[in-house]
Amino acid sequence: MKVLKFGGTSVGKPERMHAVAQLISGADQKLVVLSAVSGTTNALVGISDLLTKKDVAGAKQAIEKLFGPYDEFVEKLYTTAEGKAKGREVIRQHNEFISAFTQEKEFGDKHTRAILAEGELISTQLFHAYLLEQGYKSVLLPALDFMRIDEDDEPMLAYTEEKLGALLKANKDAHLIVTQGYICLNPKDEVDNLKRGGSDYTASLVGAAIRAEEIQIWTDIDGMHNNDPRIVKRTFPIQELTFDEAAELAYFGAKILHPSTILPAQKYNIPVKLLNTMQPEAKGTVIANKTTEKDIKAIAAKDAITVIKIKSTRMLLAHGFLRKVFEVFEKYKTSIDMITTSEVAVSLTIDNPKHLEAIVAELKVFGTVEVEHDQTIICIVGQFVQENNQIVRRVIDSLGEIPVRMISFGGSKNNISLLVKTHYKNAAMEELNEGLFFAEAVK
Ligand code: ADP
Ligand code: ASP
Ligand code: MG
Repeated sequence: MKVLKFGGTSVGKPERMHAVAQLISGADQKLVVLSAVSGTTNALVGISDLLTKKDVAGAKQAIEKLFGPYDEFVEKLYTTAEGKAKGREVIRQHNEFISAFTQEKEFGDKHTRAILAEGELISTQLFHAYLLEQGYKSVLLPALDFMRIDEDDEPMLAYTEEKLGALLKANKDAHLIVTQGYICLNPKDEVDNLKRGGSDYTASLVGAAIRAEEIQIWTDIDGMHNNDPRIVKRTFPIQELTFDEAAELAYFGAKILHPSTILPAQKYNIPVKLLNTMQPEAKGTVIANKTTEKDIKAIAAKDAITVIKIKSTRMLLAHGFLRKVFEVFEKYKTSIDMITTSEVAVSLTIDNPKHLEAIVAELKVFGTVEVEHDQTIICIVGQFVQENNQIVRRVIDSLGEIPVRMISFGGSKNNISLLVKTHYKNAAMEELNEGLFFAEAVK
């Protein structure tokens, strides 16, 4: 079976839902994972923030603003009076559910997470009702019946395998199996989620759990581009990526994929295709276990990086020093992305500053500690032969005068990482794009 995930813009308008129904109408059984209608999750974040701040009037206004456009959505989505009535009822129920939180005296995190789950619950119910109206054999399976995370927020794949396996067996005759991306239960049995953009991750987890033949991520662009099209002018789609290359790009900020999407698919060698709902005939990107000749494939960037520098003339070269430093990060479950060392100092970067204060306090035992915020990691991904200095030279040459704070090469054969101040990010991405992908053509 194939798993097909449709993102927010792909289900963002009634016409888009109609187009998705067309795309999935072939004879083979499919598992369809949907995101929330675009803009809905952001609106739900806004409503929860207002309720957290006890701005009940503001929250009521925001709820009205969110649901207003859904009336027209429902009118246009369905053709029959019965379908429209069903759609209106879905919207009414969810409006009522969210509005009830305006009465909540002790509004907290668990309520926020329940609100955030509403986007996918609404989109799947509307879409499933549309499929039924149009005569498709559709079944709606609640993701909360088979998606779970553990105490460390890690998805429980074995649980999904067991639960979803049983549900699929019970629904053998269904042609289309529709479910929610993003949402899950946590160890307290509360509604939780796989973090923003998490529907991609749901698709790959579900794909891995059922050993799908293929996982398709349908979005609003024709595959993974060689650079971030939101920032860089001249970008182009990449036809093939290895799992490792795609994982690096996703982890280092290519928004088209949730950072963790690749791992479950890679585990069972399931190809992942990135496809464009607006242009279904475009080739898109195939991510699989196959390398291609091309050396430099793509560039991605990850913002909100903090760099921590520990300086110690006394201890740095003593054996066991780095272990002690790493233990501090381990204690606070904070992962390190980049690291460089010199004789007297070690610099490392983190993307989660939640425990920064405590970490810095503990590191001060080893020497002086400096912290700098607003940094960006720029990651150049491809197949790099370690002895080939050409690539590093081309990277440095492309950057010209742009100051680089850290550089990491040789950690993996797929990745060269640079740390720059976020202020220089756009210029650095543009210069690298020209230098690495277009300079050859100009010569
Ligand atoms: P969806 O709602 O379908 O999940 P997203 O907005 O999460 O879609 O991801 C698609 C967007 O990712 C594109 O519209 C594009 O702006 C952005 N993006 C960032 N980097 C890349 C890249 N390297 N290749 C393609 N798209 C990218
Ligand atoms: N709706 C969620 C979000 O906007 C999940 C997703 O779209 O993948 O983050
Ligand atoms: Mg997304």
